[in-house]
Amino acid sequence: MFEGLSQKLEGALQSVTGQGRIDEVNVAETMREIRRALLNADVNYQVAKEFTANVKEAATGEDVLTSVTPGEQLTKIMHDELTRVLGGEHEGIEMAETPPTVILVAGLQGSGKTTFCAKLARHFRKEGHAPLLAASDVYRPAAVDQLKTLADQVNAPVYSIEDDGEIVEDAVRVANEAVTEAQNTARDIVIIDTAGRMHIDEAMMQEVEDIKTTVAPNETLFVVDSMTGQDAVNTAKEFNERIDYDGVVLSKLDGDTRGGAALSIRTVVNKPIKFASTGEKLDALTPFYPDRMAQRILGMGDVVSFVERAQEQYDEQEAERLQEKIRSEEFDLQDFYDQLQRIQKMGSIKELMGMIPGVGNKISDLDIDEEAFTHIEAIIQSMTPEERAHPDILNGTRRRRIARGSGNEVRDVNQLVSQFEEMKDMMKTMQKMTSKGQDVDISS
Ligand code: GDP
Repeated sequence: MFEGLSQKLEGALQSVTGQGRIDEVNVAETMREIRRALLNADVNYQVAKEFTANVKEAATGEDVLTSVTPGEQLTKIMHDELTRVLGGEHEGIEMAETPPTVILVAGLQGSGKTTFCAKLARHFRKEGHAPLLAASDVYRPAAVDQLKTLADQVNAPVYSIEDDGEIVEDAVRVANEAVTEAQNTARDIVIIDTAGRMHIDEAMMQEVEDIKTTVAPNETLFVVDSMTGQDAVNTAKEFNERIDYDGVVLSKLDGDTRGGAALSIRTVVNKPIKFASTGEKLDALTPFYPDRMAQRILGMGDVVSFVERAQEQYDEQEAERLQEKIRSEEFDLQDFYDQLQRIQKMGSIKELMGMIPGVGNKISDLDIDEEAFTHIEAIIQSMTPEERAHPDILNGTRRRRIARGSGNEVRDVNQLVSQFEEMKDMMKTMQKMTSKGQDVDISS
């Protein structure tokens, strides 16, 4: 996500890092580099210009603080300006006072609209809501099937109207009846998936407008493919002029996006970005926080999102249970296996590493083997429960059997067992140090 832009911005900031103070000369040079980086990332010209002008003004007007370096000071200024450009405060979904809350989702075909509807349903289910999906994308039977398949995976029902097995081509009726259905079945959220076209087209706009007029949604969200750069911004603008939506969803932010759409939309359209979609999997949806995104763009990581992802997987009891196992040195290969599974549910390794401060940009070109866990899991799965609980009984014969069973070499099994032993030793050392009340330095 935004690796190219991040690298260039960090590079530009480095040019003042070695300097004793921020002055007109080094700021002017740095601003030129920053403007170039933004334009390269396909940021709207006006937005880039305004951005650098604001940063420059803040930087030269700033008192020189002795406690921070000019690089740090400029990074802070850039962070604040990026946060502003991305929309300032986080804005979520407005819930209706009387349920159901109705959310209308619009966008071009292929923008990731249907996938987003299912992700949003999953997001709300996790928060304890009961969403209903409305299949108002009625012109392509495949679209209704796709919504049903995705909805199944997130355990949400779909409302569609069929007559003799044929889909009834009346998007407004589907949306309207879905709202009644939700009222009758105690569903508190309705998410309406509408039809998109390849390009902006009058009939599509009219239909979204008709649905909007008829069901009066609490929120109309516009989904846009961030990989399409300035095209995304133009489409967002046209849609907004016609249907006056409430918020933007940036989809495919995981892909090879240069960042232009994300950084330009708020200023050009003046509507908040509410969600970012970051992958094809249904858990790849993040509420959009401008300050966290600014941190990621500047390579400062996003520890808050990382912790939130972890919290989805670990409740307090689970965390305590784990801690107790480590304390009593009972952490075995079965626990290790369970933890690997949880970590994988948090996201791809690359995505998670990108949230760690200072790591994001440095791994952009790294080819991370996302399958590495699969081999380890296969090896542990080929062990008996007793072997998982007591790895010390793993003699040569057992190791050969496990290697055969998991499709690996004996040396892979050996490596896993010795790494596990090393990890346990490390846990023991840390345990001793913390119980003695010493600070543990985990920075090296
Ligand atoms: P729709 O035509 O707007 O309903 O778009 P779909 O939801 O069918 O998505 C179009 C394609 O984009 C599908 O292949 C999705 O799997 C893919 N897609 C959707 N959202 C994302 C995303 O956030 N990241 C990536 N990489 N792919 C996505």
